[in-house]
Amino acid sequence: MSNYTPEFHRYDKMSYRRVGKSGLKLPALSLGLWHNFGDVDDFSNVRKMLQKAFDSGITHFDLANNYGPSPGSAESNFGKIMKQDLQPWRDEIVISTKAGYSMWPGPYGEWGSRKSLLASLDQSLKRMQLEYVDIFYSHRFDPETPLEETMTALADSVKSGKALYVGISNYPVEATKKAVEILMKLGTPCVIHQPRYSLLEREPENGLLELLENKGIGCIVYSPLAQGLLTDRYLNGIPADSRAAREVFLKKEKVEQLHSKIRALNTIAQNRGQSLAQMALSWLLKDERVTSVLIGASSVEQLQNNINCLKNLEFTAEDLELIDTTIGKLL
Ligand code: NDP
Repeated sequence: MSNYTPEFHRYDKMSYRRVGKSGLKLPALSLGLWHNFGDVDDFSNVRKMLQKAFDSGITHFDLANNYGPSPGSAESNFGKIMKQDLQPWRDEIVISTKAGYSMWPGPYGEWGSRKSLLASLDQSLKRMQLEYVDIFYSHRFDPETPLEETMTALADSVKSGKALYVGISNYPVEATKKAVEILMKLGTPCVIHQPRYSLLEREPENGLLELLENKGIGCIVYSPLAQGLLTDRYLNGIPADSRAAREVFLKKEKVEQLHSKIRALNTIAQNRGQSLAQMALSWLLKDERVTSVLIGASSVEQLQNNINCLKNLEFTAEDLELIDTTIGKLL
């Protein structure tokens, strides 16, 4: 039996933003379980990070069917901790999962068919030992499946009581427009979009943020620290326990290529009295179209450092220009 009791003042430590024009609110910072929460990771650290997040007012945890490694194990670990520690506070927590990337062998283990999405959701619920998730996403646009089929599967996840809201992730602008229309007709509005966005990855500025604002849809941005590049992690090389050393998703060559740019950004952050990670997060949160910034972390200390970004979300025009010219000059 757990002796965990959440911090009494947790909601004073966080701000909450409305998800587009929906009734739902999300914390300015949400926690993602893509890396560092799988069965290859230290379970006691996983548990500490989830408790720390909830104690800090982070009410939203983002998962996907394939998070681990091994695939599925982040959901299993999250389920264990929900059961062990967080179950009494289920109604204070927003849990999301996704289907779309490769999860099991054969033609139904990925992409956007009804077969794949609904089977995956059932598997996720089982792994997390949950009756429902709060948000169910189509993880990526499937150019080969009729969009109506994928969106109907999302809408049906809500109608069957297995999800409360639906969202889409990594959908290009045009596909987003169509998906939003279809979901509206089905009576299950798209409440949120999850794109990659950071100081170094500006794609959402090319029409997506504007579209979401116009349609009243929330935006939760992922990899806000460019997987750790926008932190002090790689200022002096590649530490053995870092993502770039351990995983294939952040390439060592990319870290080396961006090294001088990162150091220059770090100096700007220091002059603002922030860590580089804090400046990168504040920079995203200064835009009110960003509902929540979805961070990853490998320790409680990183989480705390990131949460402290909330102390300064203000940027002068000079700061912004300096950041952009620093990035531009070094690109
Ligand atoms: P980030 O860009 O926030 O990178 C997180 C990594 O940065 C950590 O694992 C850690 O690296 C490092 N880090 C974090 N904080 C600090 C700090 N204060 N100081 C030093 N280093 C720090 O996000 P992720 O790429 O992890 O993505 C976040 C979430 O977004 C995922 O968990 C997932 O939920 C979601 N996501 C969604 C995708 C989609 O397709 N929809 C795709 C990718 C992510 P290290 O581990 O090396 O210590």
